[in-house]
Amino acid sequence: MANCYIVGSEKTGEGIVIDPGAESQRILKKIEELGLKIGAIIATHAHPDHVSAVGKVKAATGAEFLIHEDDAQGLEQGGYISSLLGMSFPKSPAPDRLLKDGDTIQVGELQLRVLHTPGHTPGGMCLLGEGIVFTGDTLFSQGIGRCDFPGGDYQALMEAIRSRLMSLPDDTAVYPGHGPETTIGYERDCNPFLKEGLT
Ligand SMILES: [Zn+2]
Ligand SMILES: [Zn+2]
Repeated sequence: MANCYIVGSEKTGEGIVIDPGAESQRILKKIEELGLKIGAIIATHAHPDHVSAVGKVKAATGAEFLIHEDDAQGLEQGGYISSLLGMSFPKSPAPDRLLKDGDTIQVGELQLRVLHTPGHTPGGMCLLGEGIVFTGDTLFSQGIGRCDFPGGDYQALMEAIRSRLMSLPDDTAVYPGHGPETTIGYERDCNPFLKEGLT
């Protein structure tokens, strides 16, 4: 149901997996096809549909699992969130490293910077690379993350989107946690939640 991203360097053969939420076999097959050595598994937030394949991908790759410090507790509430989503998910392992705003994740020549964007969850974050941003469930094409799960905060989410994401250049490619890719410029113009006067 969620998008999993595999970011790799053709030069060094190293990679990062973002939001392995399910279908670990398919993810691992793709990693093998690409010939990547995975150096980090990052979850944009703790929801089960983004972390449920972390255990298997971590076991197979030996990579560290990273999540924002404010969502570490949320990982333990996975069972409750699963029941809200009406599905059952495998539990995620404990994180190896906790992230905070401004942290950099470096794997070979790949570099992603943490933008803390709370609102969908307290420790929700976006991952900024060169001309690209992975937005998790903070920003979607023509949508935003829902705020009715535990720890959700609509005002915080809108503030984070406006200050942290809408400050990026228009041509920044956006890879969201659900749905198709988009750009910052397109969302600035067309996202109904970002229209003037809407709070
Ligand atoms: Zn979510
Ligand atoms: Zn999601």
